[in-house]
Amino acid sequence: MKVKMILPALAEAESPFWRPIKYSLFPPLGLATLAAYLSEEDEIDLQDQHVEELNLNDNPDLVIIQVYITNAYWAYEIADRYRKQGAYVLLGGLHVTSLPDEASQHADTIFLGPGEATFPQFLKDFKNKEPKKVYSSSIRTLDKIPPIRRDLIKRSRYLVPNSIVVTRGCPHHCNFCYKDAFFEGGKGFYTQVVDDALAEIDRLPGKHLYFLDDHLLGNSKFAGELFEGMTGMNRVFQGAATVDSVLRGNLIEKAARAGLRSLFVGFETFSTANLKQSNKKQNLEKDYIAAVNRLHSLGIMINGSFVFGLDDDDKDVFKRTVDWGVKNSITTSTYHVLTPYPGTQLYKDMESQGRILTRNWDLYDTRNVVYQTTNLTADELKNGYDWAYREFYSWSNIFKGSLNHESHKHKLKHLFYSGGWKKFEPIWNFLIKTKNLNNMLPVLEAILTKVKPKDDLAIPTEAKLEFMKGG
Ligand code: SF4
Repeated sequence: MKVKMILPALAEAESPFWRPIKYSLFPPLGLATLAAYLSEEDEIDLQDQHVEELNLNDNPDLVIIQVYITNAYWAYEIADRYRKQGAYVLLGGLHVTSLPDEASQHADTIFLGPGEATFPQFLKDFKNKEPKKVYSSSIRTLDKIPPIRRDLIKRSRYLVPNSIVVTRGCPHHCNFCYKDAFFEGGKGFYTQVVDDALAEIDRLPGKHLYFLDDHLLGNSKFAGELFEGMTGMNRVFQGAATVDSVLRGNLIEKAARAGLRSLFVGFETFSTANLKQSNKKQNLEKDYIAAVNRLHSLGIMINGSFVFGLDDDDKDVFKRTVDWGVKNSITTSTYHVLTPYPGTQLYKDMESQGRILTRNWDLYDTRNVVYQTTNLTADELKNGYDWAYREFYSWSNIFKGSLNHESHKHKLKHLFYSGGWKKFEPIWNFLIKTKNLNNMLPVLEAILTKVKPKDDLAIPTEAKLEFMKGG
């Protein structure tokens, strides 16, 4: 059987003339994970439009399309086209799970939630010529899942081909997050068996890894064993975790020893009222600066995530947030305009308050204002968001942020990482278009080498940390 798997370009990334780096970082792991359930005889063509031109002039038997909110209209167009020519079309992903009625108009079968259990079931039914219209995930386990079909990934086209996911979901329930809707009807957070995760890491060539897990430290037993297993594997890696998990116990030290060099942290807002509005309980009364200092003391760079437009935000929020990031040497900041994704509690709340202004999903890209704001006007919010990006990534602030680090190496790493990320977009664009992006991986690995803490020249052991806490 001929199988076509497609990740259509997101609306904000579809220009053939300008390819922003952030959309060419990671290969479509979800599709490659599902491909592992197909048979060896199947002819599989996996295409990611973020790094290649889509070929729609073929004749596959089965088409599988991953749908996000800002590629939904384009994904539907592709689906309609293939269905017209007689292919059987499957749609799955976050947006399909949020709005099944919308998606099912463009598909023969839709998948709700993660596909590890439902996709193999579909394949059986399809073979028996009795596929269902909807497959909804209820069994949630990563035990004995087959190895991801990484051979289908065009590694050279990505900066980070070694992306990996060893858990699914997150133990928290922030009201703006897609996670709860996607995992409805079953477990919302589960992990691989540690040995399976280590075996998957072992299969990846080179040194650098990027964990795409929503919360890599979400299960401390699993994460602790994973990091112990990784110690000595000579890896450097990046991942994401919450403020409270950085402050709690000694997991972050274990992560640093295993090779953690940069962490995406969801600070989101400094306002207690905003945290409560977002149900972001895990950040309430947490000392953000202590978390930052702890990460820096371990030589871990920080990518801070911040949301603008929550109801308690005023006109000063943009300057306050940028100044805090620069003063505390956050290496990169990701700013978002609050976006009520369909299926989330935030969307339900805003809908019941009559605050949803548009259902044009292309605008749900966290850069546009799609809801009725409170303290800020929509223009103030949009302009403040644009200003924050410009200001944080101005050369003067990049220099200021980097100079605040203690060690010279960390200063340089901050400068190269932050500057490289935002100041060399034309070079990234050129590398993506000439399919040479992966040649930059050694540079990234060099930037992610270990920073030795100034006073000790070693990452603190647990015994030293106990002593330091006691002192
Ligand atoms: S901590 Fe992050 S991943 Fe978890 S629910 Fe909140 S926003 Fe979602």
